[in-house]
Amino acid sequence: MTQTINTDQEMLPVMEHFYTIQGEGYHQGRAAYFIRLGGCDVGCVWCDVKDSWDAAKHPQLNIETLVSTVKKTPAKLIVITGGEPLMHNLDALTAALQSKGFETNIETSGAHPLSGSWNWICLSPKKFKAPLPEILPLANELKVVIFNKSDFDWAEQYAALVSPSCRLYLQPEWDKAATVMPLMIEYIKEHPKWELSLQLHKYIHVP
Ligand code: SF4
Repeated sequence: MTQTINTDQEMLPVMEHFYTIQGEGYHQGRAAYFIRLGGCDVGCVWCDVKDSWDAAKHPQLNIETLVSTVKKTPAKLIVITGGEPLMHNLDALTAALQSKGFETNIETSGAHPLSGSWNWICLSPKKFKAPLPEILPLANELKVVIFNKSDFDWAEQYAALVSPSCRLYLQPEWDKAATVMPLMIEYIKEHPKWELSLQLHKYIHVP
């Protein structure tokens, strides 16, 4: 797979951007403007946005244009996702957003160095490329996708490494939800530090 890592802080490869409802994790249910950046080298077999992987397939958008587009909506919360958004330097994007009063959240696997200024970091570690150790204490939320039974032990390994205030979520992999949900319900009842995250947006049919 060919990857283009953009080091120009003024332009970013944007796969899509849209105003919707955050469907996952701590901010589930809140109106949020999503900016999905192109580029990912993590390679999750069950990835539902494989089109994002090759950054070169997506148009480079100027940060100022992006911010002014967001400003035309009533959005307060901006979610930067991907792909793996930390394949890009996000300092300029988050500075521009925060200077306009937006709340900046990121959803990341943590596999690349952290950049940007964040109101909330959702760390979703992946088995296919481990997060860098330095992001673990900075995560506000740990979200582990459950694909099979062995993922509970794997989730616990990361729960032991994040800060005590980090919120802990287990989320079923969409295509495995029917199989793993009963296991997850029992697991969370037995281990109540975890909460259930559903991909609410898929149930209400919004992007
Ligand atoms: S990190 Fe996200 S975008 Fe990248 S392969 Fe995994 S699920 Fe897909």
